[in-house]
Amino acid sequence: MKDFSFKIPQNIEFGIGSLNKLPNILKNNGSQHVFLISDRGLEKIGVVNKVTEIIKNGGINCTTYLDVIPNPTITVVNEAAALYKECGATTIIALGGGSPLDVSKAVGILSKFGGKITDYEGLNKVPGAIVPIIAIPTTAGTGSEVTASSVITDEDKNYKFSIVSYETLPKYAILDPELIMTAPASIAAACGVDALIHAIEAYLSKQSSPFSDAMAEKAMELIGKNLRNFIKDRANEEAACGMMAGSNFAGISFAWARLGNVHAMSHPV
Ligand SMILES: [Zn+2]
Repeated sequence: MKDFSFKIPQNIEFGIGSLNKLPNILKNNGSQHVFLISDRGLEKIGVVNKVTEIIKNGGINCTTYLDVIPNPTITVVNEAAALYKECGATTIIALGGGSPLDVSKAVGILSKFGGKITDYEGLNKVPGAIVPIIAIPTTAGTGSEVTASSVITDEDKNYKFSIVSYETLPKYAILDPELIMTAPASIAAACGVDALIHAIEAYLSKQSSPFSDAMAEKAMELIGKNLRNFIKDRANEEAACGMMAGSNFAGISFAWARLGNVHAMSHPV
């Protein structure tokens, strides 16, 4: 057996209604003012409002940036970082699928260390702890809540670049399956297959370890058992819970074992 190492220095809350733990998490971390990063789609279906109400009812100030677009650009990152600086928040809440997570990590880096976001492209370029991020995924999913990378599009060069630094790992993840129970079937299917491929590619990776294999095996079991039922009926609580946990375990697995050719092919495409 090859040598291996791992750590999961994150607090993960899982459960139907776990979103309601958010105010206490914020208070325990001394956050009086948070900056919520999300998108207009989630605003439209009321998810943003649901989260901001919970924050405000907990007596905590909240400023929002909701203009995240799919394949988010440097312009989006700069806009959000400027607003973060102006509003005086001390914590970032990343609400959504992969894109709000990507932007939140980039804003967390820029707000702490300045410069241009392209300065941090590549492996381990982030020099220290970034602004604390609380990740609230609304898909199952990208696994971004437990991975240490951010993908941003440089619109001038028409090029996607990755920032891969352990420091970008969100401090907390709140996994509330209720948030994925209203997803359209097409999103549930696409995100669910993505999560399954994360687990398979991590399992087959040459960088896998007994630890990443354990997470990948459980992820495949949960996703395999629940994917079809979840697509058929997103309101099926057990299927939603299985998908949310499975997607998270797949994320933990590939954060250590890395991915394979399916994801590699997606970059040039
Ligand atoms: Zn993926």
